[in-house]
Amino acid sequence: MNQQTQAAVIDGRLVAKKIRTEVKKRVRRLRDAGHQPGLAAVLVGDNPASQTYVASKVRTCERLGIYSEVIRQPSSIAQDDLVELVQQLNRNGKIHGILVQSPLPDHIDELAVTLAIDPAKDVDGFHPHNVGLLQIGRPHLVPCTPFGIIKLLEYYEVPTTGREVVVVGRSNIVGKPIASLLMQKGPLADATVTVAHSRTRDLAQVTRRADVLIAAIGRAGFITADMVSEETVVIDVGINRVEDPASERGYRLVGDVSYDEVAQKASMITPVPGGVGPMTIALLVSNTVKAAEAILASKE
Ligand code: NAP
Repeated sequence: MNQQTQAAVIDGRLVAKKIRTEVKKRVRRLRDAGHQPGLAAVLVGDNPASQTYVASKVRTCERLGIYSEVIRQPSSIAQDDLVELVQQLNRNGKIHGILVQSPLPDHIDELAVTLAIDPAKDVDGFHPHNVGLLQIGRPHLVPCTPFGIIKLLEYYEVPTTGREVVVVGRSNIVGKPIASLLMQKGPLADATVTVAHSRTRDLAQVTRRADVLIAAIGRAGFITADMVSEETVVIDVGINRVEDPASERGYRLVGDVSYDEVAQKASMITPVPGGVGPMTIALLVSNTVKAAEAILASKE
């Protein structure tokens, strides 16, 4: 009988803490020079998940000495007014990072709002200017979740050079940018990347080839043990609410991977919560400081 492998757990909280410690030092250096980095979060409507995310982002800024403000707007806001608000933030010298929390109401064209953000303040890395820089191998502000995945792979010394990476999901915020990062030339990249999606034929056959499997699908427990090999390092990006009457909130958060069974087989795995999630916020504050450093340097 084959001995089953128990996957090593990749601890996102630990790595995120290390990143925050670095960020704090950079904030202190800026403040010693008379500057304070600042983040503005625009929150449209009253989506509970968005409110939680924004609150957590602002709390992290406060803990690290980054100025932050939340600008709340009703879901009835007109697109032109939202664009005007973003343009005001572009001109605001206290603000070096702007994020507009998604999802936005249906009547608002998300791209129009993203295009209004000054690329130098685009700490989510969603502006086509920053998307293009990443694509040509000259990244500046990189989307936080994919950047967080790279930092996890770096910390746990997961090799990517020449390895097969399979990304399941092709969204603009996770799937495409992580694929783009991993196919670049250089360290922490140089991978052979396959991007799978809902139209992929025989997905399990594709995912079993992966040395590193990145699941960004948005379907609870979608990746099962038969879809990985004993060598696979599994990165679970998914955050899905499933009903749980035993929990105080009535639900719990699970990833896109069937954790218990996959952890019995794969070589490494990120838990949900406590894997990729904490990295996203750590990289957001890191991007904010990076944006502030670059903006201030350009004025010297
Ligand atoms: P998304 O925009 O909905 O994209 C989902 C992707 O999964 C799509 O490309 C879709 O394919 C693919 N997909 C759906 N069903 C599939 C199937 N049966 N087989 C193969 N592929 C399938 O989602 P997202 O924004 O990338 O987010 C993905 C997950 O990550 C969500 O749970 C989200 O909450 C989570 N997330 C977490 C963080 C974090 O900080 N940890 C950050 C962002 C997102 P098609 O393109 O063909 O439709």
